[in-house]
Amino acid sequence: MTNPSLQKTPMPELDPDTRSRCFEEVALGYTEEMAKEEAGRCLQCKHKPCMNGCPVSVHIPAFIEKVAAGEFEEAYEIIKSTNSLPAVCGRVCPQETQCEAKCVRGIKGESVGIGRLERFVADYHMKHSTASGEKPVPNGHKVAVVGSGPASLTCAGDLAKLGYGVSVFEAFHTAGGVLMYGIPQFRLPKEVVQAEIDQLKELGVEINTNMVIGKVLSVDELFDMGFEAVFVGTGAGLPSFMGIEGEGLVGVYSANEFLTRINLMKAYRGDYDTPIIHSRRVAVVGGGNVAMDAARCARRLGAEEVSIIYRRSEAEMPARLEEIHHAKEEGIAFKMLTNPVRINGDEQSRVVSLTCVKMELGEPDASGRRRPEPIEGSEFDVEADAVIIAIGNTPNPLIRSTTPGVEANRRGCLVVNEETLETTRPGVFAGGDAVTGAATVILAMGAGKKAAQSIDAYLRKNQI
Ligand code: FAD
Ligand code: SF4
Ligand code: SF4
Repeated sequence: MTNPSLQKTPMPELDPDTRSRCFEEVALGYTEEMAKEEAGRCLQCKHKPCMNGCPVSVHIPAFIEKVAAGEFEEAYEIIKSTNSLPAVCGRVCPQETQCEAKCVRGIKGESVGIGRLERFVADYHMKHSTASGEKPVPNGHKVAVVGSGPASLTCAGDLAKLGYGVSVFEAFHTAGGVLMYGIPQFRLPKEVVQAEIDQLKELGVEINTNMVIGKVLSVDELFDMGFEAVFVGTGAGLPSFMGIEGEGLVGVYSANEFLTRINLMKAYRGDYDTPIIHSRRVAVVGGGNVAMDAARCARRLGAEEVSIIYRRSEAEMPARLEEIHHAKEEGIAFKMLTNPVRINGDEQSRVVSLTCVKMELGEPDASGRRRPEPIEGSEFDVEADAVIIAIGNTPNPLIRSTTPGVEANRRGCLVVNEETLETTRPGVFAGGDAVTGAATVILAMGAGKKAAQSIDAYLRKNQI
């Protein structure tokens, strides 16, 4: 019988006081009983509206039915048939605007906790499965994949399953892209990402780290080495700045740099000597997931006062609601309708404060959101010994500037054929944030999947 509860089965969480002093995962996941209880809320709708909200078309009612019956491995197989990183998506997909936004249970009450169930199933599989998957039969053809974020990992996995010899080339010393260097441990434990990468290695994917394509090797050299097609999934890792006075002061970070020092260089561990300023008062400029992550990390590194400074109102913040809620619980202050105009330093060029103006919302701009306008004479100072800038990223120009024939638009995003994801150079495909600009994990994965299909079709037509 359907569970009539209007609310989602609650997910246990670390309490705010404990978690704001450590990097342990905040959401603890469902037990088997909780998962079955939540799965019982699904109405098994014939038209499956929830599936329309999922960019990779996970067979949602089918997997939930298996969870309700306690057949968790079967549920895993259903999810895995369309989603190669379920443990990641179950944790970080913006479900409230995707699958769960379309769930009919959300009309009167809360939608079914699709993301929570997906996470449960993936974690159950990771804990219990001993089966190592069959290795695909090699087809004798080689593809190079540049970058190792969700777009590249998905593309590499799908091509490897088709028998291609796939080599991934990653600039950093660790594979995983933003999943490893950006999203913090307390939202997405690195072991979860590593387990997904290990599964790819089992499939035969070769992962080469410390390989900056465009510097160590060029795309042309990859072709010379015998790769017959190249996928570029290099993301959007170039941080934007505000262009205001004081951005060069000691104590001003881009969110990318701050999070990379914490995640990849393990600044949160006492036994690592990572250079990072342990500040008392931190101001984070921006209103997206990146800003929330940076603020919550600063808190965990010991900052007493952490503020989010955002030029619009809370209703316009692009961050996930859950992240805003968690940040507030952890004592992060929200200074809305506020815009920095100058960062002030002391005689040693260290940050001491941020001069801001108050804003009001005017007419909607091109994005449909109301444009913030400064209120004259409203300047005030916010004391801070570190400022973290999280106002957006664009793609790094390295690949397009070193690969003849590959074009980018004026925002620096690679130009591709929308159907095939082939760039303006034949045999070079691209997807994820490198093409769309900063977006989401699941959209990057969807692009990786589509590119793998196109690369297979291209090689069959031209060479195989
Ligand atoms: P990336 O994940 O950026 O990976 C690109 C990889 O390419 C990197 O490892 C980079 O080092 C490598 N690379 C770059 N240039 C080269 C080169 N020349 N040679 C070799 N390698 C290269 N999305 C969500 O859905 N939910 C969230 O909660 C969420 N939170 C986020 C939090 C943060 C802090 C950030 C920064 C992003 C967040 N996002 C979130 C966005 C999401 O992570 C990205 O949209 C997604 O990772 C893009 O995937 P990608 O594969 O295109 O690129
Ligand atoms: Fe929802 Fe993301 Fe899972 Fe799709 S992949 S069902 S959008 S949580
Ligand atoms: Fe279940 Fe909601 Fe999908 Fe209906 S819309 S099948 S209730 S998850």
